[in-house]
Amino acid sequence: MLNRIDLRGSATDPRGLLPRAQLDVSAAVDRIRPVVEAVREHGFAAIREATERFDGVRLERLRVPAEAIAAAAGTLEPEVRAALTEAIARARKVHTDQRRTDVTTQVVPGGTVTERWVPVSRVGLYVPGGLAMYPSTVVMNVVPAQVAGVEGLVVTSPPQVDNGGLPDARVLAACALLGVHEVYAVGGAQAIAMLAYGVPGECEPVDLVTGPGNIWVTAAKRLLRGVVGIDAEAGPTEIAILADDTADPVHVAADLISQAEHDPLAASVLVTPSAALVEAVEVELTRQVAATKHTGRITEALTGPQSGAVLVDDLEQGLRVVDAYAAEHLEIQTVDARAWALRVRNAGAVFVGAWSPVSLGDYLAGSNHVLPTGGCARHSSGLSVQSFLRGIHVIEYGEAALRDVAGHVVTLANVEDLPAHGQAVTARL
Ligand code: NAD
Repeated sequence: MLNRIDLRGSATDPRGLLPRAQLDVSAAVDRIRPVVEAVREHGFAAIREATERFDGVRLERLRVPAEAIAAAAGTLEPEVRAALTEAIARARKVHTDQRRTDVTTQVVPGGTVTERWVPVSRVGLYVPGGLAMYPSTVVMNVVPAQVAGVEGLVVTSPPQVDNGGLPDARVLAACALLGVHEVYAVGGAQAIAMLAYGVPGECEPVDLVTGPGNIWVTAAKRLLRGVVGIDAEAGPTEIAILADDTADPVHVAADLISQAEHDPLAASVLVTPSAALVEAVEVELTRQVAATKHTGRITEALTGPQSGAVLVDDLEQGLRVVDAYAAEHLEIQTVDARAWALRVRNAGAVFVGAWSPVSLGDYLAGSNHVLPTGGCARHSSGLSVQSFLRGIHVIEYGEAALRDVAGHVVTLANVEDLPAHGQAVTARL
């Protein structure tokens, strides 16, 4: 089922040889540009047109009425409420520990620089709702934003034909559990444009957009970066598993399938020195895929060019391969898994050992599941409290401290041929 890539004996940089989604976000940007421009120019009318076209829903209003959010919370099944409540509690625990404190550095006597961490004022949180519904993503977006102290929290999620044109009822219920009252029934590129530009009389623009989504959402985020702040690109999901022959093929196959379930474009990659494990995992994939619910899109994802089994000489080469791949999710199922995990340099999140599957992190580990994809883990982090804060430098020098360093300021200003910079100092002295 999986493509085979044999890197044994190869000393070349593995990056170009690894399976990767043939996602053409740039082409998608061209496709959604007219939608984004129409929303900027025509607001509500353009959102309604795009929503009718892509979601099959005719919107009468963008904002979800408060009664609908309360009603969704009222109909939440007790076991779903219990699971979401536990997910919120665990995420809050982890994210509370991420909170940074302001730091003041005394540079010289009478001269200080303070870094103040200030929350973004208004944030738009995208919660996907195309192929699957993601109340868990409400938790993963809202909890760090709340811990950071964001005051204006807006959630937007695609309208559902089978929920009367409102977002999924569990998504609305999760908003209610978290005390989020400003919710919009808009998805796709038109949702990101609505958040970035605002819609007069309907939705005020936000300062920052976060959250995962499909290729159209990712393309809109790329297009609108700058008009509005954007977190890392969190597109179709990926799992890489670094495993040796101590890994259980039943678990490895189940985990590869679990992420393939998200999207036909999802990527599942096994990296191992054990040819026997690859064969055993293949047998398990065939058995398990046939027995699961979303066989079609899982098969498409597992057999696509973005998925594969990569054979390596040993775990050292395997580590180089997974670092080059920079997976959104990386599982380590080897002897001494923790030691290998500590050496990983590029991954959105690392899941260590046999008892930490990615599904745990998707819902209840306490970690965040909005993570960088497409190799962005080389330079970006997953969503955290930090994503919602800005560090403001506060500079405070007294007269003596300024006098003391004035000569150096003037020298550097003259070197850069910006004498007025130096004069702004000497004028005071
Ligand atoms: P989605 O909400 O991202 O996309 C649905 C929207 O796409 C619809 O509202 C519609 O307006 C728009 N759309 C559909 N077809 C279109 C077209 N042809 N042109 C323009 N717009 C169109 O929901 P989804 O499709 O289920 O995708 C969710 C994605 O999020 C999956 O790929 C999943 O893997 C990913 N995900 C990623 C993470 C992460 O952290 N990286 C976490 C959860 C989910």
